[in-house]
Amino acid sequence: MKLTFLGTGTSTGVPSIGCDCETCLSDDFRNKRLRVSILIEHDGKTILVDTSIDFRQQALRVKLKHLDAVLITHCHVDHVFGLDDLRPFNFRYGAMGVYANEIAWKDLRRIFQYVFEPSHFGGGLPQLIPHTVVNHSSFCFSENLTVTPMEVIHGKLPVVAYRFNDFAYATDLSFIPEDTMDGLRDLDVLVLDCVGLKLHATHLNLDSALEYIEKLKPKRAFLTHLNHSIMYERDSKLLPDNVQFAVDELIVE
Ligand SMILES: [Zn+2]
Ligand SMILES: [Zn+2]
Ligand SMILES: [Zn+2]
Repeated sequence: MKLTFLGTGTSTGVPSIGCDCETCLSDDFRNKRLRVSILIEHDGKTILVDTSIDFRQQALRVKLKHLDAVLITHCHVDHVFGLDDLRPFNFRYGAMGVYANEIAWKDLRRIFQYVFEPSHFGGGLPQLIPHTVVNHSSFCFSENLTVTPMEVIHGKLPVVAYRFNDFAYATDLSFIPEDTMDGLRDLDVLVLDCVGLKLHATHLNLDSALEYIEKLKPKRAFLTHLNHSIMYERDSKLLPDNVQFAVDELIVE
C-alpha cells in the first residue's frame, strides 16, 4: 500500500495569511502545509480521502491522473471545498463514487445543491455517485482492499475515520469512542489528528494525540492537520521514535 500526503495543514493552511511567526516565515518545506487530504494506492485502486479546498493544486503537483473513488471524513470547508474539481476526472472517466456518512451527505447536498438539484443539465457539473457509509460496516474496493468506516468525535460532530487493511486515517477529532479504539488496534500505520501544541476544543493536540498512540500502539504513526504552532525540526524532538509529523507530498509505503 502506498500513501501520499496531499496536504497536512489545519483549516487555514500553513503559512497562515498575514502571519509573521517563525513557522509561517520558515523556508523549510516541511513547514508548508496545504489543507489535509491523503491518497491511497493499493491493489490497482487509487482512493482519495477528502476533496480539500486545495485539491486542484494538490492533484496537479502529484500529477494525479486517475481516481477510483473519494471518501469524505466530514463536511467542513477545508475537507470538501475541492469537490467541484473532480470534474476533470468525470470528463475522462465518467461519474465518481463518493462515500460519506449521513450527516455529511445532508450538508453536502445543501452546500453543493447545484450538483444534486441542477437547474440545467450538461455544461460541466460534477457527476457523483453518492454512497452512505455506516459505522463499522466494511466494504471492498477490490479483493485485497477493505475499507472500514469508524466514527470519531470532532467536538460534537461525528466524523468518519477510515481503516484500509493495516492502515488507518483519523483526522478532525477530539475523542475516539471505545468501539473505534478497538477498530484501530494492530495497525502498521496510523495517521492521527494533531492540530497543535495547545489544548483544543475540537481537535487533538500533541499531548492527547500521543496518549492515543500510546494506547493504540501502531507500528508507526504520523500526525496531521498541523497548525503553525508546530515547527517541524524544533518540535520533532518532542516525538517518540515511531511517531513523526506528516509532511506534504510525503510518501509512505
Ligand atoms: Zn479540518
Ligand atoms: Zn504563523
Ligand atoms: Zn473539521
